[in-house]
Amino acid sequence: MLFHKHLLSASLLFICCTLHASVNFDGKASCQSESLLLTTDFESARVNDCKINGNHVSISIKPENKPINDSPWYAFKLEAKTASEVTVRVKYYGGKHRYHPKASVDGVNWTALPYRIKNGDLVFQVTLGDTPLLVAGQEIVSNHAYENWMQNIKTRFELTSVSLGQSVQGRAITALLSKGQSDKYLLVIGRQHPPEITGALAYFPFSETLLENSTFRQHYNIVFVPNINPDGVALGHWRHNVNGVDLNRDWKHFKQPETAAIKQYLDTIVKRGGKIIYGVDFHSTHHDVFYTMPQGKGLTPDDTTVNWLERLALAEPNFTVLDKPGHNPGRGVFKQWLSDTYGVHAITYEMGDNTNRKVIKQVAISAANTLSETLLNQSKTAK
Ligand SMILES: [Zn+2]
Repeated sequence: MLFHKHLLSASLLFICCTLHASVNFDGKASCQSESLLLTTDFESARVNDCKINGNHVSISIKPENKPINDSPWYAFKLEAKTASEVTVRVKYYGGKHRYHPKASVDGVNWTALPYRIKNGDLVFQVTLGDTPLLVAGQEIVSNHAYENWMQNIKTRFELTSVSLGQSVQGRAITALLSKGQSDKYLLVIGRQHPPEITGALAYFPFSETLLENSTFRQHYNIVFVPNINPDGVALGHWRHNVNGVDLNRDWKHFKQPETAAIKQYLDTIVKRGGKIIYGVDFHSTHHDVFYTMPQGKGLTPDDTTVNWLERLALAEPNFTVLDKPGHNPGRGVFKQWLSDTYGVHAITYEMGDNTNRKVIKQVAISAANTLSETLLNQSKTAK
């Protein structure tokens, strides 16, 4: 196993810093001892400072800037010279514990780790063997995973890839377009907030299920933008883009390149005679909830969301469909902006951080099936 001496000096850079607004911590500290090594040289890693003392690893986690939503994200790799039990203590600065620890050897299969919260710190044990162990607050869904997924469904469903623009750090913001024989466009976006992995875990099966429905694809065009904040994903941000901005508060003035790129594409669609008819935006929070637009605000058709969620509740009797209508004009939230701009309904699709992963998948499949039923039914009655 390779241990690099320069890693220690990298960690020293982070000991100095206190929390001030707009300080941009890069969150890629690493540390080592004779027998243990902690590294962060991969996408989505986040450790702001670390120390190793015997079999104890102490980690500090800080946000990219403040103020910020309370969502401390962490991810790192641990390896040992010889098999050992290691105690990890994670200290959060600028936020309280949210994400429970998980471990993976291959980055694909993850196991929840037993943990406790001690004086606000997260404490847990890991058993290290021959292979380096990934530890993170949720499963890691990296930019690379999005690229693979997009390449895969592009081929499988004969989609068109559209380059919308670039993030602050120059990463591609890419859409996939399913073009039918229609002027109607459904927009499906995700990952405005990097640690909201359960939203991503819903996004993939939801999108694939829509794409498997050839009748739906004939009647509706679909624009998929699964990964809106690739810089935040790469850097293991808690919430913001590299400019320290919550992208889901920027759908108003479009000062950030990530949101501006999508708006520009929608403008082009509309200029060419296309109609934006609905939008779905995937997130995670403490529980499963659908933030919707209220009825009676002049949106047409006014019953899309209500009909969809009713169908979903019937299809998934063991899952509680919680519909929370809200009208917050001017806050720069995607769903509100889409509704205000195009006079249609839109939804923030939130999966709980700890919702069973099989349930997330099953509900996403049902949600896609019931949304396509709802919209197809609508286009039938409209004729
Ligand atoms: Zn969110």
